[in-house]
Amino acid sequence: MSNKPFLMTPNAKQAENTPDAIVVGGGPVGSSAALNLAKRGAGVTVFEEHAAIGEPSHCAGHISIRSLRNMGLYPLPGEIVENTFSAANFYSPMGTKFSVRLAQPVTAVVNRALFDKYLASKAEVAGVHYRLSARVESLLVDGGFVKGVNLTEGDKKEEKEYAQVVIDAEGISSRLSKQAGLPALNRDGIVYAVETEMDGVQDVESDAVEVYVGRMFAPGFYAWLIPRLDGTAKVGLATKTGNPKEFLQRLMRKHPVASKQLGKAKITQTAFHTISLGGPISRTYANGFLAVGDAASQVKPTTGGGVIFGLTCARIAAEVAADAIKRNDVSSDFLRLYQQRCGEALGFDFSVMLRARRLLNSLSDEKIDEALRFCARVGLGKTLETVEEIDFQGQAFLKLLTKPAMFAALGYFLLLYLSANP
Ligand SMILES: Cc1cc2nc3c(=O)[nH]c(=O)nc-3n(C[C@H](O)[C@H](O)[C@H](O)COP(=O)(O)OP(=O)(O)OC[C@H]3O[C@@H](n4cnc5c(N)ncnc54)[C@H](O)[C@@H]3O)c2cc1C
Repeated sequence: MSNKPFLMTPNAKQAENTPDAIVVGGGPVGSSAALNLAKRGAGVTVFEEHAAIGEPSHCAGHISIRSLRNMGLYPLPGEIVENTFSAANFYSPMGTKFSVRLAQPVTAVVNRALFDKYLASKAEVAGVHYRLSARVESLLVDGGFVKGVNLTEGDKKEEKEYAQVVIDAEGISSRLSKQAGLPALNRDGIVYAVETEMDGVQDVESDAVEVYVGRMFAPGFYAWLIPRLDGTAKVGLATKTGNPKEFLQRLMRKHPVASKQLGKAKITQTAFHTISLGGPISRTYANGFLAVGDAASQVKPTTGGGVIFGLTCARIAAEVAADAIKRNDVSSDFLRLYQQRCGEALGFDFSVMLRARRLLNSLSDEKIDEALRFCARVGLGKTLETVEEIDFQGQAFLKLLTKPAMFAALGYFLLLYLSANP
């Protein structure tokens, strides 16, 4: 796929001149919002500050197959999918292992650069106009309404671009959302991540993701190892405190299991980025403006996965924005429908996952070790064998509560939580 897209369809030509909507950011969420707007007949321009879509990548790209399929995105073409997984192994800092093995693959790891390019090319075919190396510097605000953006493209001087609606999909920096008066991300939910690619990983099952939990190696989050079919792996972690790179070195040298898997591994690529686990910001819309994806912290507080929830909200944002454009009413009174519909789609899952994150963060390493032993003892792995839903974790949890092992585990975790938070 070439870096400088794309086709020049009639819609794209129209968007180039007078877009109905501007999308800031050509990540998966921005392209998905743009695609869905274009499908509804809107002229859309996407501004992406980098010269190539999807690059540089900072993401592991581990995504649920079921959710991708529900969005019409699976199977994915070509080389985008690097591997699929039907198992996960969880390790305590002491090396206690709890495994879940499912009948068929439930997750895929994608090459994020190719995945983002694929979504952008779909949007482009639908008529979206992309401008690369085009950085949005600020919003144009007039009479309390966002009316467009100020941008710089390469060495050219700043220019203004107007549209009825600006969709902010700029990722976690959420600079423009702040300018639009939306609340900042919850600082307490921020974790600092390192994502690497490694050669020479040993002793891993090619269809299982490895997850290392506990404060000793990843306080406030966890570490992961995602094997690819070509023998390389994506390995990373995030931490609430301290330097993620130092924690990664500690994991590679001192973790009773990971040190054996990674002891001889070579890091071939490293990226640093931030993840927001604090749940969606409390207001995601303003006059002429919507925030989606990481910019609005639409990320799972348990796993840090933001692709599926971001795409879910991008679709809703596009529906509401397209209606607003048609009705010639882009006031916040109308655009609030976006937040309402996102709440209906994801609100319950977010509230369950936020509680689960709080519980996990409150556990000492000894308690985590005990908990993994308990899960193995009550046969929770067997109960989870039938799980297909891993994104909408609140709903999945409710379904599983009818199973005795899950019920026992819930009681156990509740007791742990209460003893850690007297
Ligand atoms: C280490 C790590 C691992 C992760 N692993 C997973 C995972 O396995 N699965 C998962 O689902 N999620 C994962 N995530 C989260 C996932 O990466 C994000 O939720 C997802 O990328 C959000 O997409 P987005 O389009 O909102 O933002 P981004 O992907 O960040 O895209 C934002 C885009 O906006 C552009 N941009 C920013 N500012 C401007 C500007 N002013 N003007 C023009 N362009 C601009 C950027 O260049 C970028 O292309 C991970 C995150 C990290 C940090």
